[in-house]
Amino acid sequence: MSGPKSSSSMTRPDMIPQNQTTTLPWDSWTGLLLWGQEELAALGPRESQTNAEYLLEEASGQKRWQLALRPEERPRAALVETYRRWIANRRERIPSAYVTGKAFFRDECLEVGPACLVPRPETELLVEAVIRQAGFAQDAEFSFLDLGTGSGAVAISLLRHFKKARAVMADVSSDALAVAGRNAERYALTGRVELRLSDFFEAFRGPVRPQWSLMVSNPPYLAQSDWDQVEPELLYEPRQALDGGLDGLSAYRQIAGEAANFLHPGGGLFFEVGQGQAPAVQTLLGENGFKNICILKDWSGIDRIVSSTRCL
Ligand code: GLN
Repeated sequence: MSGPKSSSSMTRPDMIPQNQTTTLPWDSWTGLLLWGQEELAALGPRESQTNAEYLLEEASGQKRWQLALRPEERPRAALVETYRRWIANRRERIPSAYVTGKAFFRDECLEVGPACLVPRPETELLVEAVIRQAGFAQDAEFSFLDLGTGSGAVAISLLRHFKKARAVMADVSSDALAVAGRNAERYALTGRVELRLSDFFEAFRGPVRPQWSLMVSNPPYLAQSDWDQVEPELLYEPRQALDGGLDGLSAYRQIAGEAANFLHPGGGLFFEVGQGQAPAVQTLLGENGFKNICILKDWSGIDRIVSSTRCL
């Protein structure tokens, strides 16, 4: 027998029987996931998969494995709508934390939005460095300043570790401060924080100058040359939180130049720094009355944290 074999399992579009309904991606969890992955293909194979999975988990409030256990379930229309909108936003290269309005930082889940930088995993090391090196017992009563607090991630994480500490969370953006305030509220920390609108130390230079036992900062540190190679996602983040001037060091110059005035003798100053900036920041600290300068590497082997103490 010659010629193509006719088989009932072979379905050409013109052969779809009338009673057979075509499945839409929105009819199943797997369909949604594969559709999302395809929409995000430009992110690359791995990112498109992890992003589609994450957005589906967030939209449904279920983990991937929980969804996999109910293949026959039909996703609710409202949920599908949210997921489709989120995928479209992510496709525009909006950071996924802005898409969902949430970011995870150490043990915290924080509100984030375009007014503040998305907390990065490297910044968790800033908190770890303080916990390990600043010399405070977990129940110590002390006050610290988080300069450029953004979403409040660093200060909130520290306050949750040091249960009796108090923090001044300062930022030049009132919109960022509003987010930080809501995050403090979310963790019932409002009684231990003060939010201050301040361009570096501007708000603190009055006749009664505050002095803290500790200062932490993840200031803007991108240099002008970095902007040519940034990922599209970064352009959605506040420029003010990223732009460190021509060489990326202008915020460190301003902070190191004045920090000793606002720290008790022996008080710690902990910075996150950009790639390759540690030696310059170390020099700046040395020139401005700081000693015990210590550098910590992040998981990629990049010098990421520079800590120091104010000379007595
Ligand atoms: N870590 C950010 C980035 O490289 C920069 C953060 C900052 O400027 N403080 O994308």
